[in-house]
Amino acid sequence: MIWNNQVAIEIENLHKIFKRGLFRPQVIHALKGINLKIKKGEIFCLLGPNGAGKTTLLNILSLLLYPDKGKIKIFNQDISKKENFLKARLNLCSGNPNFPWTLTVYEILNFYGKLYGLRGKKLKKRIAKYCELLEIKNFLNRRFEELSTGTKQRLALAKSLLNEPELLFLDEPTAGLDPDIALKIRNIIKKIHSEKKPTIILTTHYMAEAEMLAERIAFIKDGEILAEGTPQGLKEKLSANNLEEVFLELVK
Ligand code: ATP
Repeated sequence: MIWNNQVAIEIENLHKIFKRGLFRPQVIHALKGINLKIKKGEIFCLLGPNGAGKTTLLNILSLLLYPDKGKIKIFNQDISKKENFLKARLNLCSGNPNFPWTLTVYEILNFYGKLYGLRGKKLKKRIAKYCELLEIKNFLNRRFEELSTGTKQRLALAKSLLNEPELLFLDEPTAGLDPDIALKIRNIIKKIHSEKKPTIILTTHYMAEAEMLAERIAFIKDGEILAEGTPQGLKEKLSANNLEEVFLELVK
């Protein structure tokens, strides 16, 4: 049972449809009636095979996409009415980040910091703080196009922390990284969470990442939630030894 004052996100009967092609467009029903409650301060993980609808859900929750049907409340506010008020309280970090190629790390962080309303000393302090945490301060004068995949990913995470969001969306934050860098990023996510307790919603294809970070998990396939619960609860329910077995059982 989750009480209303403990809820960060409440989703009711959420649908999203995409249309592909101009003539006789193909209709893709990416989300088919999602219902979900996410608690304040928890790390909630969305798992599912390719094309399940995870990124679509994250993009709707982070106010980048409009849903076709359904109701979403974030911090008890209807997102269709309080969009601007909510924007300041959330942030998104995408796997495979894409910033303007010719800007330096500092210019990128400075630009996004200003978009979040930070200025002067406060902005400088935040940039310094998150560059230190993500170990990218030696790259401040490097252009985005010159960075390795791991550094780009750490920059994307630093950018998503600049406004110290209460609600942080992480879309495959360690996609394509070497295991040591991926582990480093997972530890940083843990640290950020333990310090300020933001609500974190994470998508990943790595079961080890979900095992390490997730307090609760929803498995999505073909736009529908197949199962939801704590990692331990899901393993017990499906008589599985680990989340990989849970995943394979649910998607077969
Ligand atoms: P992956 O794990 O591969 O990133 P996902 O679970 O994040 O997949 P989504 O990217 O949300 O899945 O895609 C869900 C469905 O919606 C897929 O069939 C995808 O092709 C389709 N889709 C997503 N975005 C668009 C778009 N802009 N236009 C058309 N179809 C889209």
